[in-house]
Amino acid sequence: MKMNTRLIYNLDLAELESLFTQWEQPAYRAKQLWQGLYQQFWTRPEDFSTFPKELRQKIVNEFSLSHLQEVERLYSKDEQTTKVLFKLPDGQPIETVLMRYEERNTLCISTQAGCAMGCVFCATGQMGFRRNLTSGEIVEQVIYFARQLKTEGERVTNVVLMGMGEPLHNYEASLAAIDRLGDPDGFNMGARRFTISTVGLIPAIKRFTEEKRQIGLAISLHATEDELRSSMLPANQRYPIADLIQACREYVDFTGRRITFEWALIQNVNDSQEEARRLAELLHGLNCHVNVIPLNPTNGFNGERSTRERVSAFRDVLESHGISCTVRVRRGIDIQAGCGQLAEHAIPTQPSA
Ligand code: SAH
Ligand code: SF4
Repeated sequence: MKMNTRLIYNLDLAELESLFTQWEQPAYRAKQLWQGLYQQFWTRPEDFSTFPKELRQKIVNEFSLSHLQEVERLYSKDEQTTKVLFKLPDGQPIETVLMRYEERNTLCISTQAGCAMGCVFCATGQMGFRRNLTSGEIVEQVIYFARQLKTEGERVTNVVLMGMGEPLHNYEASLAAIDRLGDPDGFNMGARRFTISTVGLIPAIKRFTEEKRQIGLAISLHATEDELRSSMLPANQRYPIADLIQACREYVDFTGRRITFEWALIQNVNDSQEEARRLAELLHGLNCHVNVIPLNPTNGFNGERSTRERVSAFRDVLESHGISCTVRVRRGIDIQAGCGQLAEHAIPTQPSA
């Protein structure tokens, strides 16, 4: 893999076309390459053997056709969840998780190597921030799995930006990736099939609101009081709960869309019925949905996940207050592919941060 070349997925169609014009190539070739990449999932020079040899050579010299080097692949026992650990050309690790359901195939992608937000119960937070991914590196995760699913007659139906990293801390690249994958002449995956999850970076939420996009938005809330939330999510010190909820209300009012809140249930920390009542009060009148996720274990945090009884009691209180709530099905816990479990365990040569 050449590091000094640009990843081809970093370009959108217009950029590819203007490059081909510079190269004095007919415009239809750019479109052919685009469709090859995003519909046929070309990945090797042999795949575009219909191109003149000279052009093929030029593309290969100028571009890297892949930044993702598969290092390890794990299947959960039920085989419904696959986690792939990739290494980027500079050695940084990222992980991507495929979750198969009856009716859909949801891909959970990374937007950063590591994360700067430092949430205490999250393995990615525990490893620290390495770097932002480029838009092309975000795009390639989707194409990589789409290519594999295609061989089974399947496709990626939904994408959640809930892997490693904070997508709104890498705003431009995350949104550019979604836009690129939405091109009707290319991959054609509509914005509604994407969900961005954020720890609650208010200025970025405001920007996202103003852009009035069709992408789903999920907020990682986890507590109703600043003291507790700040102790688990340091970002809360800058963006406290009242301001965050206000930004969420503005988002819902302005876009007319429902918003999702995520809540990792930690035994005896944020799982009491009283806490559920406070949450119901906080979200009163807001068009929203709450996803509760019993805490997944990580090495750096010794909280326990709530018992099944406490999970149900928490959900019942919310529902009795008219707030819709689902308990997220635990997926891939046996391969550390659950929420907050993505890190680089599998690369023994890399010291952890
Ligand atoms: N950075 C974004 C998206 C990635 S994390 C965010 O924080 O929202 C995806 C979700 O997993 C978030 O809701 C996060 O709070 C949650 N999470 C992190 N660690 C977890 C753990 N150990 N158990 C359960 N959920 C966890
Ligand atoms: Fe980053 Fe999200 Fe993990 Fe917090 S929960 S450290 S924001 S990836």
